[in-house]
Amino acid sequence: MPYAIDETHDPNLKSWVESANDPKSDFPIQNLPWVEFTGPKWGEGLGVRIGNQILDLHGLLGTGLVDESIFQQSEIERSTFGVWAIASLNQDTRSKLRTRLVELLSSEDSGVQDAVRQQLEPADKCQIVISPIGDYTDFYASLYHATNVGSMFRPDNPLLPNYKHIPIGYHGRASSIVASGTPIKRPVGQQAPAEEGGTPSFGPCKLLDYEMEMGVIVGRGNELGEPVSIEDAEDHMLGMCILNDWSARDLQKWEYVPLGPFLAKNFASTVSPYIVTMEALAPFRCAAQERDAGDPQPLAYMDSDANRKAGGIDIKVEVYLASAKMREQGIEPVHLSTGNFKDMYWTLAQMLTHHTVNGCNLQPGDLLGSGTISGTTRDARGSMLELTWDGDPFAEPPVLVPGTQRTPIVLPTGEERKFIADGDEVIMKAYCEREGYRRIGFGECRGIIEPAREV
Ligand code: CA
Repeated sequence: MPYAIDETHDPNLKSWVESANDPKSDFPIQNLPWVEFTGPKWGEGLGVRIGNQILDLHGLLGTGLVDESIFQQSEIERSTFGVWAIASLNQDTRSKLRTRLVELLSSEDSGVQDAVRQQLEPADKCQIVISPIGDYTDFYASLYHATNVGSMFRPDNPLLPNYKHIPIGYHGRASSIVASGTPIKRPVGQQAPAEEGGTPSFGPCKLLDYEMEMGVIVGRGNELGEPVSIEDAEDHMLGMCILNDWSARDLQKWEYVPLGPFLAKNFASTVSPYIVTMEALAPFRCAAQERDAGDPQPLAYMDSDANRKAGGIDIKVEVYLASAKMREQGIEPVHLSTGNFKDMYWTLAQMLTHHTVNGCNLQPGDLLGSGTISGTTRDARGSMLELTWDGDPFAEPPVLVPGTQRTPIVLPTGEERKFIADGDEVIMKAYCEREGYRRIGFGECRGIIEPAREV
């Protein structure tokens, strides 16, 4: 742990797939994220994205250019050959496969190029899908997000006493996780009574929000009763995607006590379909966020040298919004925020280790959400709830506006937003940049809000 930087990360490496060499592409040869797709040539398949193409792994295995025996150790039958077949491979095998794909896609041998080229499909001719997620857990790993949200509801006591000791999380719902581009219907539900002791109202959510998160896809699982150590945690991760944890704040406020989020979250969550592998992310590892002098150190089971030195990942995350009116007028989506995944208080390894410390078994294809990624500045806030709120708990002295006063975001059309309106499209992007390495990206995570059903 974590992953080694090797020849597959060489920034000078070029592919004969020309579109991959465009410096603006999210998908250079150094990236090669996994994706499931239905393409015109072979139908449903598993592939890797390279430039504007998808390389079909089924087809590639048919050429004999990749040693098929590496899949024999997969826990999953070849007949259900999806991303999860890759997930259950161990780290060493996945690295070998990555090295071989890089060799083939950078080969100067015209025979190899021709054979591999026949297994390429243009990404824009393919329907991109996602494998069904097994189980889904969402964490709350940003101290800044937790402090912002806590400050709104408990100005004198924003952080609960457990926060710095335990990665807080809850079990979410896998069945309503959808791929980028799927329209999201505004949820309907109960909202708190106007007066204490009154009757709750019922109707379409009035305070619909997004949460900018990153997800990690679990690779190899662990047996029930057998925890994963912090040293082994990274070997159990396949890769990462963007996650939009859509949130109905009015439903949430009424229902969350005492057991946490329920219908405010489980109506839909959107993921980006490309799984950027932990191997591809190796050059962008960084130290885990340093704890303040007065903070408790994590308990031993969540602490290691490797985790302190390289448990973080430098991933820039951006959120954009386009209203229906903006799209009609041809106006580009407006930038709402830029945060960074390295600002998380808990690392992925700590979250995964903690998840299994009681013996809980993770399985290939489970999704762990990071929690909303927020920073110390206003433009690094990863939800609308935080962006339109006037408080700033990190200012000296703290600026806390009682009653969570809101200042709307003004769109180029003059429309104002305190939360998301029908017809709004939320667009999330994520990418990694570091001097001396090729930039890699995650693609996009998009969703348009449709009006609620009639009630
Ligand atoms: Ca969340």
